[in-house]
Amino acid sequence: MTRVAGRQLVQPPGPTNVPDRVLRALATPTVDHRGPIALQLVKDCLAGFDKIFGFGGDPVIMYAASGTGSWMAALANTLNPGDKVLGFETGHFGRLWADMVTDMGFELHQEPTDWRSPIDLNKLESILKADKEHKIKAVCAVHNETSTGVTSDIAGVRKAMDAAGHPALLFVDTISGLGSIPYDHKAWKVDITIGGSQKGLMLPPGLSFNVASAKALEANKTAKYPKGYWKWAPIIAANKDGMFPYTPATNMLFALREGLAMLQEEGMQAVFARHARLAEATRRAVQAWGLETVCKDAKYASNTVTSIYTPDGVNADQVRNVIYDKFNIALGSGLGQLAGKNFRIGHLGDFNETMLTGVLAGVEVGMDLAGMKIQKGGVTAALTYFAEN
Ligand SMILES: *Cc1c(COP(=O)(O)O)cnc(C)c1O
Repeated sequence: MTRVAGRQLVQPPGPTNVPDRVLRALATPTVDHRGPIALQLVKDCLAGFDKIFGFGGDPVIMYAASGTGSWMAALANTLNPGDKVLGFETGHFGRLWADMVTDMGFELHQEPTDWRSPIDLNKLESILKADKEHKIKAVCAVHNETSTGVTSDIAGVRKAMDAAGHPALLFVDTISGLGSIPYDHKAWKVDITIGGSQKGLMLPPGLSFNVASAKALEANKTAKYPKGYWKWAPIIAANKDGMFPYTPATNMLFALREGLAMLQEEGMQAVFARHARLAEATRRAVQAWGLETVCKDAKYASNTVTSIYTPDGVNADQVRNVIYDKFNIALGSGLGQLAGKNFRIGHLGDFNETMLTGVLAGVEVGMDLAGMKIQKGGVTAALTYFAEN
């Protein structure tokens, strides 16, 4: 391959652009994982999580795994074989998580959606109310459905569960939300928060985690599902001294400490405001192009990713390929049943106005070059929004 100059804009909604500071932290020479540097590193990461995200002292259990591994960890650590789990198919990630529930031998109640909408709170409440024997042991909710660009109301999920007086555990996948849009593990009484490294945390892929509530830890004590590598107890015990029961991914932890420090320096309110601003500018561009977002109701539009339909007869992957080849911009593809029908612009992580403007410019020209009939003026609409806000 010939050299392509300049840095690629990495705009799937994860992995995201990794800042130089994090890359330098990753390049730290290997340390003894039982020595003082590593022990302090683990303690710093755990303390950093708590300080920035307000986990209220609930343990964070980190794995050298992609986000998918932490879905498995949540299920295996708190449930018994054959337990019933309720899931919502808000999109591709809701679908994959449900497939894992079935694959692991749990009984699944999967609520379908139109892949354009958030979790239906009324539906959730009525399902739980109808479950008089409390057979459902856990509710799996995807906070920010990365395939569709729709954010679900997790405070509302908690409210619906409480209104039904149902004791099921609440598992929330906020892999593409945490560190970019408001998330409150404590106030929403989430039993297991599931996060990953390669989205709002600005790290490469390879690290994910569970945050366990007191209720989840209680369930863990009697949960009979085989846990293998994912077993919380030895990790939580070793972490108290900055240790792991095995070799942790120390270089990813160096990166994590740096990423968390960067979020703290910017301040989470500023981080949320920046994501909201970049998302709104993206939506203005889409509107100016005369295109439709997968998200049906703008009220639930994600501030980390915008998923855009290409018109009938236009293969979205071909458009993406033109944009990649011509402008070195990587966009997210349509996933699952949306394959070929949409492309996704991630606007999360270490990202700013001029980077977004570059992306929108590449997309606007690229769509035209790929033969898509669009109205021009998306970039201008975004710039106008930036100027006025
Ligand atoms: C990215 C993502 C995942 C999967 O993460 P992997 O790291 O690819 O395993 C799961 N859920 C959501 C909502 C995501 O955005």
